Amino acid sequence: MSEIILKGIPAAPGIVIGKAYIYGKEDLDVEKHPITEEQVPLEISRFEDALIQTRQEIIVLQKKIAFEMGTEHAEVFDAHLLVLEDRMLIEEVISRVKKEKWCIDFIFSEVLKRYASVFSRIEDEYLKERISDINDVGRRILRNLLGKKRKGLSDLEEQVIVIAHDLSPSDTATMHKNKVIGFVTDIGGKTSHTAIMAKSLEIPAVVGLEFGTEKIKNGDRVIVDGSSGVVIVAPDIETYRKYEVQEEKIRSLTEVLGSIRDLPSETKDGKLVSLAANIEFPEEIQTVIQHGADGVGLYRTEYFYMNRKDLPTEDEQYEAYKNLAVSFKDKPVIIRTMDLGGDKFISQFDLPKEMSPFMGWRAIRFCLARPDVFKTQLRAILRASSFGNLKVMFPMISGIEELRKAKVMLEEAKEELKARRVAYNDRIEVGAMIEVPSAALTSDILSQEVSFFSIGTNDLIQYSLAVDRTNEKIAYLYEPTHPAVLRLVKSVIDAGHKANIWVGMCGEMSGEPSLAILLLGLGLDEFSMPSASILEIKNVIRSVTYVKARAIADEALKLTTGFEVETFLNQKLKEVLPDIYGS
Ligand code: PEP
Ligand code: MG
Repeated sequence: MSEIILKGIPAAPGIVIGKAYIYGKEDLDVEKHPITEEQVPLEISRFEDALIQTRQEIIVLQKKIAFEMGTEHAEVFDAHLLVLEDRMLIEEVISRVKKEKWCIDFIFSEVLKRYASVFSRIEDEYLKERISDINDVGRRILRNLLGKKRKGLSDLEEQVIVIAHDLSPSDTATMHKNKVIGFVTDIGGKTSHTAIMAKSLEIPAVVGLEFGTEKIKNGDRVIVDGSSGVVIVAPDIETYRKYEVQEEKIRSLTEVLGSIRDLPSETKDGKLVSLAANIEFPEEIQTVIQHGADGVGLYRTEYFYMNRKDLPTEDEQYEAYKNLAVSFKDKPVIIRTMDLGGDKFISQFDLPKEMSPFMGWRAIRFCLARPDVFKTQLRAILRASSFGNLKVMFPMISGIEELRKAKVMLEEAKEELKARRVAYNDRIEVGAMIEVPSAALTSDILSQEVSFFSIGTNDLIQYSLAVDRTNEKIAYLYEPTHPAVLRLVKSVIDAGHKANIWVGMCGEMSGEPSLAILLLGLGLDEFSMPSASILEIKNVIRSVTYVKARAIADEALKLTTGFEVETFLNQKLKEVLPDIYGS
Protein backbone atom coordinates (compact mmCIF):
# COMPACT_ATOMS: atom_id res chain seq x y z
CA MET A 1 0.00 0.00 0.00
CA SER A 2 1.47 3.34 -0.96
CA GLU A 3 1.15 6.29 1.37
CA ILE A 4 -1.98 8.43 1.49
CA ILE A 5 -1.70 12.08 2.42
CA LEU A 6 -4.80 13.63 3.96
CA LYS A 7 -5.23 17.32 4.75
CA GLY A 8 -7.36 18.61 7.61
CA ILE A 9 -7.39 21.53 10.00
CA PRO A 10 -4.47 21.84 12.42
CA ALA A 11 -5.99 21.72 15.92
CA ALA A 12 -3.09 21.16 18.33
CA PRO A 13 0.59 21.35 17.31
CA GLY A 14 3.25 18.66 17.37
CA ILE A 15 4.20 15.54 15.40
CA VAL A 16 3.42 11.97 16.37
CA ILE A 17 3.94 8.68 14.59
CA GLY A 18 1.96 5.73 15.78
CA LYS A 19 -0.66 3.04 15.34
CA ALA A 20 -4.20 4.00 14.38
CA TYR A 21 -7.03 3.06 16.68
CA ILE A 22 -10.42 3.53 15.07
CA TYR A 23 -12.80 4.73 17.70
CA GLY A 24 -15.89 3.77 15.80
CA LYS A 25 -19.50 4.65 16.26
CA GLU A 26 -20.79 2.32 18.91
CA ASP A 27 -23.52 -0.12 18.24
CA LEU A 28 -26.49 1.08 20.20
CA ASP A 29 -29.16 -0.46 17.99
CA VAL A 30 -32.39 -1.01 19.83
CA GLU A 31 -35.02 -3.55 19.10
CA LYS A 32 -38.66 -2.57 18.76
CA HIS A 33 -40.60 -4.68 21.30
CA PRO A 34 -44.30 -4.22 21.96
CA ILE A 35 -45.26 -4.04 25.65
CA THR A 36 -48.49 -4.65 27.52
CA GLU A 37 -50.40 -2.11 29.60
CA GLU A 38 -49.08 -3.83 32.77
CA GLN A 39 -45.47 -3.48 31.64
CA VAL A 40 -45.72 0.32 31.25
CA PRO A 41 -44.81 1.21 34.88
CA LEU A 42 -41.85 -1.15 34.73
CA GLU A 43 -40.58 0.46 31.54
CA ILE A 44 -40.93 3.93 33.07
CA SER A 45 -39.05 2.91 36.16
CA ARG A 46 -36.24 1.43 33.98
CA PHE A 47 -36.06 4.83 32.30
CA GLU A 48 -35.90 6.64 35.63
CA ASP A 49 -33.13 4.34 36.85
CA ALA A 50 -31.17 4.98 33.68
CA LEU A 51 -31.54 8.76 34.20
CA ILE A 52 -30.27 8.49 37.78
CA GLN A 53 -27.37 6.26 36.79
CA THR A 54 -26.43 8.63 33.96
CA ARG A 55 -26.56 11.59 36.29
CA GLN A 56 -24.19 9.88 38.71
CA GLU A 57 -21.79 9.00 35.92
CA ILE A 58 -21.71 12.57 34.66
CA ILE A 59 -21.11 14.01 38.13
CA VAL A 60 -18.17 11.63 38.70
CA LEU A 61 -16.75 12.53 35.30
CA GLN A 62 -17.24 16.24 35.92
CA LYS A 63 -15.35 16.08 39.21
CA LYS A 64 -12.51 14.16 37.59
CA ILE A 65 -12.18 16.70 34.77
CA ALA A 66 -12.39 19.69 37.12
CA PHE A 67 -9.55 18.19 39.14
CA GLU A 68 -7.37 17.22 36.19
CA MET A 69 -8.05 19.95 33.65
CA GLY A 70 -9.72 22.86 35.43
CA THR A 71 -13.30 23.90 35.98
CA GLU A 72 -13.74 25.48 32.55
CA HIS A 73 -13.50 22.09 30.87
CA ALA A 74 -15.79 20.57 33.46
CA GLU A 75 -18.48 23.13 32.67
CA VAL A 76 -19.29 21.29 29.44
CA PHE A 77 -20.99 18.73 31.65
CA ASP A 78 -23.32 21.31 33.18
CA ALA A 79 -25.05 21.36 29.81
CA HIS A 80 -25.23 17.56 29.93
CA LEU A 81 -26.86 17.62 33.34
CA LEU A 82 -29.40 20.11 32.01
CA VAL A 83 -30.36 17.68 29.24
CA LEU A 84 -31.10 15.11 31.94
CA GLU A 85 -33.45 17.54 33.61
CA ASP A 86 -35.23 18.51 30.42
CA ARG A 87 -38.89 17.98 31.38
CA MET A 88 -40.12 18.17 27.81
CA LEU A 89 -37.86 15.37 26.70
CA ILE A 90 -38.66 13.16 29.69
CA GLU A 91 -42.40 13.75 29.48
CA GLU A 92 -42.45 13.10 25.76
CA VAL A 93 -40.78 9.71 26.31
CA ILE A 94 -43.11 8.74 29.13
CA SER A 95 -46.29 9.80 27.40
CA ARG A 96 -45.34 8.03 24.18
CA VAL A 97 -44.59 4.79 26.04
CA LYS A 98 -48.03 5.01 27.66
CA LYS A 99 -49.73 5.75 24.37
CA GLU A 100 -47.80 3.72 21.81
CA LYS A 101 -46.84 0.72 24.00
CA TRP A 102 -43.38 0.10 22.63
CA CYS A 103 -40.44 -0.65 24.89
CA ILE A 104 -38.78 2.37 26.44
CA ASP A 105 -35.46 1.79 24.62
CA PHE A 106 -37.15 2.15 21.28
CA ILE A 107 -39.26 5.17 22.22
CA PHE A 108 -36.31 6.97 23.78
CA SER A 109 -34.10 6.45 20.75
CA GLU A 110 -36.91 7.75 18.51
CA VAL A 111 -37.35 10.87 20.65
CA LEU A 112 -33.59 11.40 20.60
CA LYS A 113 -33.51 11.20 16.79
CA ARG A 114 -36.34 13.71 16.55
CA TYR A 115 -34.55 16.14 18.86
CA ALA A 116 -31.35 15.86 16.88
CA SER A 117 -33.10 16.54 13.59
CA VAL A 118 -35.01 19.55 14.99
CA PHE A 119 -31.81 21.05 16.42
CA SER A 120 -29.83 20.49 13.24
CA ARG A 121 -32.28 22.68 11.33
CA ILE A 122 -32.00 25.60 13.76
CA GLU A 123 -30.00 28.61 12.54
CA ASP A 124 -28.86 29.77 15.97
CA GLU A 125 -25.23 28.69 16.41
CA TYR A 126 -25.57 28.27 20.17
CA LEU A 127 -28.53 25.94 19.92
CA LYS A 128 -26.89 24.05 17.07
CA GLU A 129 -23.91 23.30 19.27
CA ARG A 130 -26.26 21.68 21.76
CA ILE A 131 -26.82 18.72 19.38
CA SER A 132 -23.54 17.16 20.46
CA ASP A 133 -24.52 17.56 24.13
CA ILE A 134 -27.90 15.92 23.55
CA ASN A 135 -26.34 13.08 21.55
CA ASP A 136 -23.63 12.57 24.11
CA VAL A 137 -26.08 12.33 27.02
CA GLY A 138 -28.63 10.44 24.94
CA ARG A 139 -26.10 7.72 24.14
CA ARG A 140 -25.19 7.46 27.81
CA ILE A 141 -28.84 6.98 28.79
CA LEU A 142 -29.37 4.44 26.04
CA ARG A 143 -26.25 2.54 27.05
CA ASN A 144 -27.58 2.34 30.60
CA LEU A 145 -31.00 1.25 29.38
CA LEU A 146 -29.41 -1.50 27.31
CA GLY A 147 -27.02 -2.41 30.12
CA LYS A 148 -24.04 -1.88 27.83
CA LYS A 149 -20.62 -0.48 28.65
CA ARG A 150 -18.49 1.37 26.18
CA LYS A 151 -14.83 0.61 25.95
CA GLY A 152 -13.68 4.14 26.64
CA LEU A 153 -10.52 5.90 25.66
CA SER A 154 -9.39 5.63 29.26
CA ASP A 155 -9.12 1.81 29.01
CA LEU A 156 -6.60 1.63 26.17
CA GLU A 157 -3.79 -0.83 26.68
CA GLU A 158 -1.17 0.60 24.35
CA GLN A 159 -0.20 3.95 22.88
CA VAL A 160 -2.36 4.84 19.90
CA ILE A 161 -3.49 7.62 17.63
CA VAL A 162 -7.25 7.82 17.89
CA ILE A 163 -9.17 8.16 14.62
CA ALA A 164 -12.84 9.07 15.06
CA HIS A 165 -15.67 10.59 13.12
CA ASP A 166 -16.16 13.01 15.98
CA LEU A 167 -15.13 13.00 19.59
CA SER A 168 -17.56 14.19 22.20
CA PRO A 169 -16.35 16.32 25.08
CA SER A 170 -16.72 13.23 27.32
CA ASP A 171 -14.48 11.23 24.99
CA THR A 172 -11.78 13.90 24.90
CA ALA A 173 -11.99 14.51 28.60
CA THR A 174 -11.49 10.85 29.49
CA MET A 175 -8.58 10.33 27.15
CA HIS A 176 -5.58 8.93 28.87
CA LYS A 177 -2.77 11.28 27.90
CA ASN A 178 -0.12 8.55 28.13
CA LYS A 179 -2.08 6.26 25.83
CA VAL A 180 -3.63 8.67 23.33
CA ILE A 181 -0.59 10.25 21.70
CA GLY A 182 -2.54 12.01 18.96
CA PHE A 183 -5.98 12.17 17.44
CA VAL A 184 -7.78 12.85 14.22
CA THR A 185 -11.46 13.55 13.60
CA ASP A 186 -13.53 13.72 10.41
CA ILE A 187 -15.48 16.76 11.54
CA GLY A 188 -14.91 19.80 13.74
CA GLY A 189 -13.19 23.15 13.44
CA LYS A 190 -10.27 24.90 15.06
CA THR A 191 -12.41 26.27 17.86
CA SER A 192 -14.50 23.20 18.57
CA HIS A 193 -14.34 21.99 22.15
CA THR A 194 -12.41 18.95 21.02
CA ALA A 195 -9.69 21.10 19.46
CA ILE A 196 -9.52 23.40 22.47
CA MET A 197 -9.14 20.45 24.81
CA ALA A 198 -6.45 18.86 22.61
CA LYS A 199 -4.45 22.06 22.84
CA SER A 200 -4.69 22.25 26.58
CA LEU A 201 -3.81 18.55 26.90
CA GLU A 202 -0.94 19.22 24.47
CA ILE A 203 -1.87 16.21 22.31
CA PRO A 204 -1.10 16.77 18.59
CA ALA A 205 -4.43 16.74 16.74
CA VAL A 206 -5.97 17.32 13.33
CA VAL A 207 -9.70 17.89 12.92
CA GLY A 208 -12.03 18.28 9.94
CA LEU A 209 -10.29 15.54 7.92
CA GLU A 210 -13.64 14.56 6.33
CA PHE A 211 -12.86 10.95 5.30
CA GLY A 212 -10.30 9.90 7.90
CA THR A 213 -12.40 7.07 9.32
CA GLU A 214 -12.95 5.69 5.80
CA LYS A 215 -9.37 5.90 4.61
CA ILE A 216 -7.59 4.79 7.78
CA LYS A 217 -7.86 1.25 9.14
CA ASN A 218 -7.24 -0.10 12.62
CA GLY A 219 -3.55 -0.75 13.13
CA ASP A 220 -2.39 1.39 10.17
CA ARG A 221 0.77 3.29 10.83
CA VAL A 222 -0.01 7.01 10.68
CA ILE A 223 1.82 10.28 11.06
CA VAL A 224 -0.12 13.20 12.54
CA ASP A 225 1.35 16.63 12.02
CA GLY A 226 -0.86 18.79 14.22
CA SER A 227 1.02 21.94 13.24
CA SER A 228 0.24 21.76 9.54
CA GLY A 229 -2.96 19.67 9.65
CA VAL A 230 -1.45 16.83 7.60
CA VAL A 231 -2.11 13.14 8.28
CA ILE A 232 -0.10 10.52 6.40
CA VAL A 233 -1.36 6.95 6.30
CA ALA A 234 1.10 4.09 5.68
CA PRO A 235 4.01 6.45 5.07
CA ASP A 236 6.77 5.49 2.61
CA ILE A 237 10.08 4.80 4.21
CA GLU A 238 11.39 8.18 3.02
CA THR A 239 8.47 10.14 4.50
CA TYR A 240 8.69 8.09 7.66
CA ARG A 241 12.38 8.94 8.09
CA LYS A 242 11.74 12.63 7.42
CA TYR A 243 9.08 12.82 10.10
CA GLU A 244 11.03 10.66 12.49
CA VAL A 245 13.88 13.19 12.29
CA GLN A 246 11.41 16.03 12.87
CA GLU A 247 9.78 14.21 15.78
CA GLU A 248 13.20 13.62 17.32
CA LYS A 249 14.12 17.27 16.80
CA ILE A 250 10.98 18.38 18.60
CA ARG A 251 11.73 15.98 21.44
CA SER A 252 15.29 17.18 21.95
CA LEU A 253 14.22 20.80 21.53
CA THR A 254 11.66 20.28 24.29
CA GLU A 255 14.46 19.08 26.56
CA VAL A 256 16.68 22.06 25.76
CA LEU A 257 13.76 24.42 26.30
CA GLY A 258 12.90 22.93 29.68
CA SER A 259 16.36 23.88 30.91
CA ILE A 260 15.94 27.62 30.16
CA ARG A 261 12.49 27.96 31.71
CA ASP A 262 13.62 29.96 34.70
CA LEU A 263 16.32 31.97 32.97
CA PRO A 264 15.64 35.58 31.96
CA SER A 265 14.43 36.47 28.45
CA GLU A 266 17.50 38.45 27.53
CA THR A 267 19.80 38.65 24.56
CA LYS A 268 23.47 37.67 24.72
CA ASP A 269 24.35 41.33 25.20
CA GLY A 270 21.86 41.84 28.00
CA LYS A 271 18.76 43.38 26.40
CA LEU A 272 15.77 42.20 28.40
CA VAL A 273 12.37 41.70 26.78
CA SER A 274 9.12 40.38 28.19
CA LEU A 275 7.63 37.11 26.96
CA ALA A 276 3.97 36.86 27.86
CA ALA A 277 1.14 34.46 27.12
CA ASN A 278 -2.08 34.81 25.15
CA ILE A 279 -4.94 33.07 26.90
CA GLU A 280 -8.54 32.29 26.11
CA PHE A 281 -9.61 30.94 29.47
CA PRO A 282 -8.61 31.90 33.01
CA GLU A 283 -8.10 28.18 33.63
CA GLU A 284 -4.97 28.28 31.52
CA ILE A 285 -3.09 29.85 34.44
CA GLN A 286 -1.15 26.67 35.30
CA THR A 287 -0.06 26.08 31.71
CA VAL A 288 1.10 29.69 31.42
CA ILE A 289 3.13 29.41 34.63
CA GLN A 290 4.58 26.05 33.56
CA HIS A 291 5.85 27.60 30.33
CA GLY A 292 7.69 30.29 32.26
CA ALA A 293 5.74 33.31 30.97
CA ASP A 294 6.45 36.78 32.30
CA GLY A 295 2.71 37.39 32.59
CA VAL A 296 -0.35 37.49 30.34
CA GLY A 297 -0.10 39.83 27.37
CA LEU A 298 -3.57 39.14 26.02
CA TYR A 299 -6.58 37.65 27.71
CA ARG A 300 -9.25 37.26 25.02
CA THR A 301 -12.28 37.83 27.20
CA GLU A 302 -14.86 37.31 24.48
CA TYR A 303 -14.75 33.56 25.11
CA PHE A 304 -16.39 34.41 28.41
CA TYR A 305 -19.49 35.29 26.42
CA MET A 306 -19.53 32.19 24.23
CA ASN A 307 -21.27 28.84 24.64
CA ARG A 308 -23.94 30.20 26.94
CA LYS A 309 -27.37 31.71 26.76
CA ASP A 310 -26.98 34.55 29.25
CA LEU A 311 -24.39 37.28 29.67
CA PRO A 312 -21.65 36.94 32.26
CA THR A 313 -22.42 39.05 35.31
CA GLU A 314 -20.10 41.59 36.89
CA ASP A 315 -19.46 39.27 39.85
CA GLU A 316 -18.73 36.27 37.70
CA GLN A 317 -16.21 38.21 35.61
CA TYR A 318 -14.74 39.80 38.72
CA GLU A 319 -14.05 36.37 40.23
CA ALA A 320 -12.26 35.19 37.09
CA TYR A 321 -10.18 38.37 36.69
CA LYS A 322 -9.36 38.41 40.40
CA ASN A 323 -8.18 34.81 40.22
CA LEU A 324 -5.81 35.80 37.41
CA ALA A 325 -4.57 38.86 39.30
CA VAL A 326 -3.90 36.84 42.45
CA SER A 327 -2.23 33.94 40.59
CA PHE A 328 0.24 36.13 38.74
CA LYS A 329 0.98 38.35 41.77
CA ASP A 330 3.08 41.27 40.53
CA LYS A 331 3.43 39.94 36.98
CA PRO A 332 1.28 41.89 34.52
CA VAL A 333 -2.01 40.49 33.23
CA ILE A 334 -3.49 42.42 30.33
CA ILE A 335 -7.22 42.04 30.00
CA ARG A 336 -8.50 42.91 26.57
CA THR A 337 -12.06 44.11 26.68
CA MET A 338 -14.49 42.04 24.70
CA ASP A 339 -13.62 41.73 21.01
CA LEU A 340 -16.86 40.30 19.73
CA GLY A 341 -17.55 40.21 16.00
CA GLY A 342 -15.46 39.34 12.96
CA ASP A 343 -15.20 35.57 13.22
CA LYS A 344 -16.19 35.56 16.89
CA PHE A 345 -19.95 35.52 17.09
CA ILE A 346 -22.06 35.06 20.14
CA SER A 347 -25.74 34.45 20.28
CA GLN A 348 -26.86 36.57 23.24
CA PHE A 349 -27.00 39.72 21.14
CA ASP A 350 -29.29 39.81 18.23
CA LEU A 351 -26.64 41.05 15.83
CA PRO A 352 -27.60 41.77 12.25
CA LYS A 353 -25.85 39.77 9.51
CA GLU A 354 -23.23 41.97 7.91
CA MET A 355 -21.61 41.94 4.47
CA SER A 356 -18.12 42.50 5.93
CA PRO A 357 -18.15 41.41 9.57
CA PHE A 358 -14.43 42.06 10.04
CA MET A 359 -15.03 45.67 9.11
CA GLY A 360 -18.38 45.88 10.77
CA TRP A 361 -20.03 46.57 14.08
CA ARG A 362 -17.54 44.82 16.29
CA ALA A 363 -15.15 45.06 19.25
CA ILE A 364 -14.84 48.58 20.66
CA ARG A 365 -17.47 49.87 18.21
CA PHE A 366 -20.00 47.48 19.66
CA CYS A 367 -18.90 48.19 23.25
CA LEU A 368 -19.28 51.94 22.86
CA ALA A 369 -22.81 51.41 21.57
CA ARG A 370 -23.68 49.06 24.44
CA PRO A 371 -22.42 50.83 27.60
CA ASP A 372 -24.46 48.41 29.74
CA VAL A 373 -22.44 45.42 28.54
CA PHE A 374 -19.14 47.32 28.33
CA LYS A 375 -19.31 48.95 31.74
CA THR A 376 -20.24 45.68 33.43
CA GLN A 377 -16.97 44.29 32.14
CA LEU A 378 -15.00 47.44 33.04
CA ARG A 379 -16.31 47.42 36.61
CA ALA A 380 -15.35 43.75 36.96
CA ILE A 381 -11.81 44.46 35.70
CA LEU A 382 -11.47 47.51 37.98
CA ARG A 383 -12.62 45.61 41.05
CA ALA A 384 -10.16 42.81 40.34
CA SER A 385 -7.36 45.35 39.77
CA SER A 386 -6.89 45.86 43.49
CA PHE A 387 -5.61 42.26 43.79
CA GLY A 388 -2.64 42.31 41.40
CA ASN A 389 -1.07 43.89 38.36
CA LEU A 390 -4.01 44.08 35.96
CA LYS A 391 -3.97 46.31 32.90
CA VAL A 392 -6.82 46.99 30.52
CA MET A 393 -6.56 47.12 26.74
CA PHE A 394 -9.07 48.17 24.09
CA PRO A 395 -9.32 46.26 20.79
CA MET A 396 -9.87 47.65 17.27
CA ILE A 397 -9.11 51.26 18.13
CA SER A 398 -9.16 53.17 14.84
CA GLY A 399 -8.40 56.69 16.05
CA ILE A 400 -8.01 58.96 19.05
CA GLU A 401 -11.73 59.79 19.40
CA GLU A 402 -12.64 56.16 19.89
CA LEU A 403 -9.89 55.75 22.44
CA ARG A 404 -11.07 58.81 24.34
CA LYS A 405 -14.67 57.55 24.40
CA ALA A 406 -13.55 54.20 25.77
CA LYS A 407 -11.52 55.95 28.44
CA VAL A 408 -14.52 58.08 29.42
CA MET A 409 -16.50 54.88 29.97
CA LEU A 410 -13.68 53.54 32.11
CA GLU A 411 -13.84 56.71 34.21
CA GLU A 412 -17.63 56.34 34.49
CA ALA A 413 -17.19 52.76 35.64
CA LYS A 414 -14.76 54.01 38.30
CA GLU A 415 -17.30 56.60 39.48
CA GLU A 416 -19.95 53.90 39.73
CA LEU A 417 -17.68 51.81 41.91
CA LYS A 418 -16.79 54.82 44.01
CA ALA A 419 -20.48 55.42 44.63
CA ARG A 420 -20.78 51.78 45.71
CA ARG A 421 -17.68 52.21 47.92
CA VAL A 422 -15.92 49.37 46.18
CA ALA A 423 -12.11 49.31 45.97
CA TYR A 424 -10.19 49.40 42.69
CA ASN A 425 -6.82 50.52 41.37
CA ASP A 426 -7.39 54.10 40.29
CA ARG A 427 -4.08 54.09 38.41
CA ILE A 428 -4.79 51.00 36.33
CA GLU A 429 -2.80 51.24 33.11
CA VAL A 430 -4.72 51.56 29.87
CA GLY A 431 -3.38 50.35 26.54
CA ALA A 432 -4.57 50.31 22.96
CA MET A 433 -4.35 47.45 20.52
CA ILE A 434 -2.89 48.62 17.26
CA GLU A 435 -4.58 46.43 14.70
CA VAL A 436 -6.19 48.88 12.30
CA PRO A 437 -3.90 50.68 9.80
CA SER A 438 -5.37 54.08 10.76
CA ALA A 439 -4.28 53.47 14.35
CA ALA A 440 -0.81 52.43 13.24
CA LEU A 441 -0.50 55.56 11.11
CA THR A 442 -1.64 57.79 13.96
CA SER A 443 0.22 55.93 16.69
CA ASP A 444 2.18 59.11 17.50
CA ILE A 445 -1.16 60.74 18.46
CA LEU A 446 -2.50 57.68 20.33
CA SER A 447 0.76 57.26 22.23
CA GLN A 448 0.07 60.48 24.12
CA GLU A 449 -2.98 59.02 25.82
CA VAL A 450 -2.13 55.41 26.71
CA SER A 451 0.46 53.61 28.84
CA PHE A 452 1.29 50.95 26.25
CA PHE A 453 0.55 49.59 22.80
CA SER A 454 0.00 45.97 21.82
CA ILE A 455 0.19 45.37 18.09
CA GLY A 456 -2.48 42.96 16.90
CA THR A 457 -0.88 41.72 13.72
CA ASN A 458 -3.53 39.07 13.05
CA ASP A 459 -5.89 41.86 12.16
CA LEU A 460 -3.33 44.49 11.15
CA ILE A 461 -2.11 42.19 8.36
CA GLN A 462 -5.60 41.47 7.07
CA TYR A 463 -6.58 45.13 7.06
CA SER A 464 -3.37 46.55 5.62
CA LEU A 465 -3.06 43.93 2.87
CA ALA A 466 -6.84 43.62 2.32
CA VAL A 467 -6.67 39.85 2.89
CA ASP A 468 -9.46 38.20 4.89
CA ARG A 469 -7.64 36.22 7.57
CA THR A 470 -10.14 33.35 7.40
CA ASN A 471 -10.21 32.83 3.63
CA GLU A 472 -7.99 29.89 2.62
CA LYS A 473 -8.12 30.85 -1.10
CA ILE A 474 -6.12 34.01 -0.53
CA ALA A 475 -4.02 32.71 2.34
CA TYR A 476 -0.90 33.01 0.13
CA LEU A 477 -1.35 36.80 0.25
CA TYR A 478 -1.49 36.89 4.04
CA GLU A 479 2.15 37.76 4.58
CA PRO A 480 3.48 38.89 7.96
CA THR A 481 6.76 39.65 6.19
CA HIS A 482 5.22 42.00 3.60
CA PRO A 483 7.26 45.25 3.52
CA ALA A 484 4.05 47.20 4.28
CA VAL A 485 3.54 45.24 7.50
CA LEU A 486 7.17 45.68 8.51
CA ARG A 487 6.97 49.44 7.98
CA LEU A 488 3.74 49.74 9.97
CA VAL A 489 5.15 47.70 12.85
CA LYS A 490 8.34 49.76 12.88
CA SER A 491 6.44 53.04 12.89
CA VAL A 492 4.28 51.93 15.84
CA ILE A 493 7.32 50.82 17.86
CA ASP A 494 9.16 54.06 17.08
CA ALA A 495 6.13 56.22 17.96
CA GLY A 496 5.65 54.38 21.24
CA HIS A 497 9.29 54.74 22.23
CA LYS A 498 9.31 58.43 21.32
CA ALA A 499 6.46 58.90 23.78
CA ASN A 500 8.26 56.75 26.38
CA ILE A 501 5.73 53.95 26.43
CA TRP A 502 6.44 50.26 25.90
CA VAL A 503 5.23 48.43 22.82
CA GLY A 504 4.16 44.80 22.72
CA MET A 505 2.72 42.47 20.12
CA CYS A 506 0.02 39.88 20.71
CA GLY A 507 -0.58 38.73 17.13
CA GLU A 508 0.61 35.21 16.20
CA MET A 509 3.63 36.79 14.48
CA SER A 510 5.50 37.30 17.74
CA GLY A 511 5.56 33.54 18.41
CA GLU A 512 7.39 32.73 15.13
CA PRO A 513 11.12 32.13 15.76
CA SER A 514 12.43 33.80 12.57
CA LEU A 515 10.13 36.80 12.96
CA ALA A 516 11.04 37.16 16.62
CA ILE A 517 14.61 38.11 15.63
CA LEU A 518 13.25 40.81 13.33
CA LEU A 519 10.85 42.13 15.99
CA LEU A 520 13.61 42.14 18.58
CA GLY A 521 15.73 44.16 16.18
CA LEU A 522 12.88 46.59 15.57
CA GLY A 523 12.85 47.24 19.33
CA LEU A 524 9.71 45.35 20.43
CA ASP A 525 9.52 45.29 24.24
CA GLU A 526 6.93 42.59 24.87
CA PHE A 527 6.12 39.45 22.85
CA SER A 528 2.80 37.80 23.68
CA MET A 529 1.94 34.41 22.20
CA PRO A 530 0.33 31.01 22.90
CA SER A 531 2.04 29.53 26.00
CA ALA A 532 3.46 26.61 24.05
CA SER A 533 5.65 28.96 21.94
CA ILE A 534 7.20 30.93 24.81
CA LEU A 535 10.24 28.78 25.52
CA GLU A 536 11.10 28.44 21.85
CA ILE A 537 11.11 32.23 21.49
CA LYS A 538 13.09 32.59 24.72
CA ASN A 539 15.72 30.26 23.27
CA VAL A 540 15.96 32.40 20.14
CA ILE A 541 16.21 35.64 22.10
CA ARG A 542 18.91 34.18 24.36
CA SER A 543 20.93 33.01 21.34
CA VAL A 544 21.36 36.33 19.59
CA THR A 545 22.76 39.76 20.44
CA TYR A 546 20.58 42.84 20.21
CA VAL A 547 23.24 44.42 17.99
CA LYS A 548 22.94 41.54 15.52
CA ALA A 549 19.11 41.56 15.63
CA ARG A 550 19.13 45.28 14.83
CA ALA A 551 21.42 44.71 11.87
CA ILE A 552 19.10 41.92 10.65
CA ALA A 553 16.06 44.19 10.99
CA ASP A 554 17.83 46.97 9.05
CA GLU A 555 18.62 44.56 6.23
CA ALA A 556 15.07 43.14 6.19
CA LEU A 557 13.60 46.63 5.85
CA LYS A 558 15.55 47.17 2.65
CA LEU A 559 14.04 44.13 0.91
CA THR A 560 11.15 44.58 -1.50
CA THR A 561 8.91 41.51 -1.19
CA GLY A 562 7.46 39.39 1.59
CA PHE A 563 9.10 36.31 0.10
CA GLU A 564 12.55 37.91 0.14
CA VAL A 565 12.10 38.96 3.76
CA GLU A 566 10.90 35.50 4.77
CA THR A 567 13.80 33.74 3.01
CA PHE A 568 16.30 36.16 4.51
CA LEU A 569 14.95 35.75 8.05
CA ASN A 570 14.87 31.94 7.79
CA GLN A 571 18.49 32.01 6.70
CA LYS A 572 19.44 34.22 9.65
CA LEU A 573 17.61 31.94 12.07
CA LYS A 574 19.55 28.95 10.74
CA GLU A 575 22.79 30.85 11.31
CA VAL A 576 21.82 31.75 14.87
CA LEU A 577 20.66 28.24 15.86
CA PRO A 578 22.02 25.78 13.27
CA ASP A 579 21.42 22.71 15.45
CA ILE A 580 17.71 23.39 15.68
CA TYR A 581 16.77 25.20 12.50
CA GLY A 582 19.51 24.05 10.12
CA SER A 583 18.30 21.53 7.55
C1 PEP B 1 -4.79 40.32 16.60
O1 PEP B 1 -5.65 40.77 15.85
O2 PEP B 1 -3.58 40.24 16.30
C2 PEP B 1 -5.16 39.82 17.93
C3 PEP B 1 -4.24 39.43 18.79
O3 PEP B 1 -6.47 39.71 18.25
P1 PEP B 1 -7.44 38.55 17.71
O4 PEP B 1 -6.59 37.49 17.08
O5 PEP B 1 -8.18 38.09 18.90
O6 PEP B 1 -8.28 39.28 16.71
MG1 MG C 1 -7.59 41.32 16.58
